[in-house]
Amino acid sequence: MKKSITPGQIKETNRNLVYQHLYKNPDSSQQDISYALRLSRPTVTALLAELEQDGMICKNGVIASAYAGRKAAAYSVTPDYRIAIGAELLASEWKLVAVDLYGRELKRKNYQVAFQNTPEYYDSLCSEILHFIKELPASDAQVLGVGFAVQGLVSPDGQQIAYGKILPFEGLTTAVFSALPFPCRLIHDAASAAAAELWVSPELQNAVFLLLSEHFGAAFIQDRSVSAGKHGHQATIEHLQLYHNGKQCYCGQSGCVETECSISALLQDGESLPQFFAAARKENTAEAARWMSWLSSLAEVINAVHLIYDCDYILGGHIAPYLKEDDLTVLYSQIRAHTSFPEPDDFIRISKMPEHGISTGAALPFVQDFLNQM
Ligand SMILES: [Zn+2]
Repeated sequence: MKKSITPGQIKETNRNLVYQHLYKNPDSSQQDISYALRLSRPTVTALLAELEQDGMICKNGVIASAYAGRKAAAYSVTPDYRIAIGAELLASEWKLVAVDLYGRELKRKNYQVAFQNTPEYYDSLCSEILHFIKELPASDAQVLGVGFAVQGLVSPDGQQIAYGKILPFEGLTTAVFSALPFPCRLIHDAASAAAAELWVSPELQNAVFLLLSEHFGAAFIQDRSVSAGKHGHQATIEHLQLYHNGKQCYCGQSGCVETECSISALLQDGESLPQFFAAARKENTAEAARWMSWLSSLAEVINAVHLIYDCDYILGGHIAPYLKEDDLTVLYSQIRAHTSFPEPDDFIRISKMPEHGISTGAALPFVQDFLNQM
């Protein structure tokens, strides 16, 4: 049977079009919207009134409209009409962040708490999240959800930790967060960081995001989505074996990428990244030699994965703020030495969001889902 579009559906489509236009073009006048969307003035007037009444948009003063001789009211999306919470769980810390519909940080707080895989630990985390939200100028109804970034592999539905050896929480489900009256989702930390990178990189389509932090992680970005894979272990490059008799990895194997290309592999006991790079950037130091050796292992990894997945490679994680263009030159030259055909030097770049990418990236999928349904 042929289905026809109802007037209600047309109205909803137009309402969403107006909302999306205002999201991308803040401070638009009624005339601007009417002209851009080719909708009649009365239609736009009615939709703006409805969206404003629902609190989804607001008037911010007046502007000189491009399509009218006099000043007109300027409309924008209400940035905190909905908000999302990101939580990063680490061995000795929680990092919480609240973001608005533009992914802008509304509030951030870190808590020093030692990890324990106990109900008390998760209850205490839920209490802190509720308290964190209470301190915001936002009600519970505005919260789209809470994303928990974890150092572990997550089931494709984001409800269970499928593999977790860095922190012993394998099998954990979001049921431990049942005290939170919001949708909750677990997200692999590398996938979180990749989500944040996507947010700040509108041009990005396909890429391998490398999370170069205390531990090594990776995420595949395909058609602007972070791909989880069939079983949730897409892009677990960290456990590719580089050397058969290498250092012991937490996964049980030895010589994994994790044991050669993570920050743990780079630094010696008690050494910090600022200390290391202060010495590594000087000529003929032991640190400079160690840095070249680390880059050389990283080049080997990028080359191996690049043979399978020909796309851009983004270097992110806690090491990203210390990376320089000269390091990319070293990587390209090492990759050329490994690979049998000519490689252009245009596929590796440094992350645009090296700071706070993981916690923010855990919140952003909720915002993206909200915007996608508008
Ligand atoms: Zn391993």
